[in-house]
Amino acid sequence: GQISSSYDLSFKILLIGDSAVGKSSLLLSFISNSTEELAPTIGVDFKIKQLIVGGKRLKLTIWDTAGQERFRTLTSSYYRGAQGIILVYDVTRRESFTNLSEVWSKEVELYSTNQDCVKLLVGNKVDRVSERAVSRDEGSALAKELGCLFFECSAKTRENVESCFEELALKIMDAP
Ligand code: GDP
Repeated sequence: GQISSSYDLSFKILLIGDSAVGKSSLLLSFISNSTEELAPTIGVDFKIKQLIVGGKRLKLTIWDTAGQERFRTLTSSYYRGAQGIILVYDVTRRESFTNLSEVWSKEVELYSTNQDCVKLLVGNKVDRVSERAVSRDEGSALAKELGCLFFECSAKTRENVESCFEELALKIMDAP
């Protein structure tokens, strides 16, 4: 018989943002469908997730910074070939939000060579309601400014975790 590939489309997606905003937790929460362990993580490099979105079988290869963001040593090779970039901040840490507009988005401009790359802004840790330091409106305004999709989510409760990856995938499929 004929050998058919197990997916229709394959996308490379990156997670970026300050250390400890929850990048690895978001990735693991998305991959494992569980909230079991949520300990600080030392970089996981990348994970592969297959899912069906918009009737297509997708293979997402999602790259995490493996802690390299601490040393600001992410380079152009990390960004190469990415169709989607997820910019993550922690809604309880204002600095992680301002760093997105002042540091990370500039790096994306500099290194991401793909003009059609789809960007998604994610405010994580919304479960920590009483500690919130960045409002939903501020997040939404920055997303507009940077030309990103926008979600607030929690890697801990898994609120909105699947939706944000799925919306990103849908938008990538729509891209030229
Ligand atoms: P990274 O350095 O950006 O990859 O961040 P980590 O995934 O290592 O998370 C840093 C810390 O934040 C860990 O202690 C996580 O357990 C915690 N954390 C991550 N996401 C959430 C979340 O949505 N809610 C809460 N309350 N804690 C979280």
